[in-house]
Amino acid sequence: MVQNSYPDTQLFIDGEWRSGAEGKAIPVSDPATGEVIGQVAHATNPDLDAALAAVDRGFKAWNEISAFERGKLMRKAAQLLRERADGIAGIMTREQGKPLAESKGEVMAAADVIDWFAEEARRTYGQIIPGRVPGVMQMTVKLPVGPVAAFTPWNFPINQIVRKLSAALAAGCSIIVKAPEETPASPAELIRAFADAGVPAGVVNLVYGVPAEISEYLIPHPVIRKISFTGSTPVGKHLAALAGAHMKRATMELGGHAPAIIFEDANLEKAVKVLAGSKFRNAGQVCVSPTRFLVQERVYGDVLDAFTAAAKAIKVGNGVEEGTQMGPLANERRIPALESLIQDALDHGAELKTGGRRIGNKGNFFEPTVLSNVPREARIMNEEPFGPVAVFNPFSTLDEVVEEANRLPFGLASYAFTGSAETAQALGLRIEAGMTTINHNGLALPEVPFGGIKDSGYGTEGGSEAIEAYLVTKFVSQAGA
Ligand code: NAD
Repeated sequence: MVQNSYPDTQLFIDGEWRSGAEGKAIPVSDPATGEVIGQVAHATNPDLDAALAAVDRGFKAWNEISAFERGKLMRKAAQLLRERADGIAGIMTREQGKPLAESKGEVMAAADVIDWFAEEARRTYGQIIPGRVPGVMQMTVKLPVGPVAAFTPWNFPINQIVRKLSAALAAGCSIIVKAPEETPASPAELIRAFADAGVPAGVVNLVYGVPAEISEYLIPHPVIRKISFTGSTPVGKHLAALAGAHMKRATMELGGHAPAIIFEDANLEKAVKVLAGSKFRNAGQVCVSPTRFLVQERVYGDVLDAFTAAAKAIKVGNGVEEGTQMGPLANERRIPALESLIQDALDHGAELKTGGRRIGNKGNFFEPTVLSNVPREARIMNEEPFGPVAVFNPFSTLDEVVEEANRLPFGLASYAFTGSAETAQALGLRIEAGMTTINHNGLALPEVPFGGIKDSGYGTEGGSEAIEAYLVTKFVSQAGA
């Protein structure tokens, strides 16, 4: 695979790569140039019917293979991904924009996720419960919930799929993935690794099309027993309601608005370095991106200056070019969205320390942006910017900062830096978020939980609990004949 070539993407249904039944396709653009670089097949109802029939058969086929053997096939797919990482990274950067090193990192991290769940496949333990009567054996067994429909976004084209796909396959489920139309070709390479590893036809299926049409067709369908969605909170609420109406199990990984709290006793240099890295990674298009920077009064000015300098030093450019640290936004629609959030903050009296504008008029490049003293009423203090914008405000006490951290309906990630063990412990317990990382960025490893609370969703996509989302507990009570 040559780094600059970009493939057209087909659907993958019942073990075959195919065009949409109606021959429709959606153009794919390079966010760094705005040029159309390829197209992706568009599934319509006949394709979805074929995928549903396939995933139903695939579920049965996959369950004829032991968990031990399923794990082996998964590890083979992980190995194929590692071998193909450079080529896949090139494809991902062309369609998504992130620097090549980030794309390759995502592919390698996906392989680790697959390996983790391949091992978990062997540990879906049930229980033996002591009987009340001699001779009665009471036990629970963990069984796969059934065929899964997964809906994933464009910010991490592979990573968002691999957490759902690997947990589902490890549990013994088959899956239809509705992958992002904006970034379709790198997800197809992920699916290809599983197909090439020997996963039977129908176990893994891949479709693209009109997201709302596909989710509204698949979620109510009786073949589908579980759904998993990553994306915005409004869409998540809509899909969760649909799942509820049809009694489907659901995992929802939704938006965030992460507080990043810096106390005066913190290692300030480390705090700025770690948080600037986290903020501008993937141009801020990350659900766990730090957004509300809350800095203790006495060190506010110093931290703001250092962070602003770090933002100014970021080399923005085409992700395929050597030395690029931040690529373009993946979608042109985020540019007016960010401009309007920033203008609204300025109208409310915020101060622009750096950035705030689109760069050039070709590609979706946006300046790393820092805003200071932003009133709570500004939209950006309440809505997820999902872009390279950091919002700074001072605080004085622990109680005050915890109140601000917990003010929003979101509760996904949170960050804190402090030299005090007591403060660290208080923050770990009191911040209402699915994840708190203190004095470093320790989020999103395969072996640790990943998920939100409140409007950020429910369920976890990492750690030993993640496979539970794809399992049902069956109770069996057995007496002698
Ligand atoms: P959006 O709300 O239009 O779409 C978000 C994702 O959901 C996309 O992948 C889209 O294809 C999918 N989607 C939309 N409607 C759907 C439906 N009815 N059924 C199934 N899937 C559907 O927003 P956008 O412009 O693509 O992204 C901007 C916002 O989305 C951000 O502000 C952020 O809050 C959120 N987002 C979150 C994540 C995340 O990692 N949690 C990733 C991408 C986007």
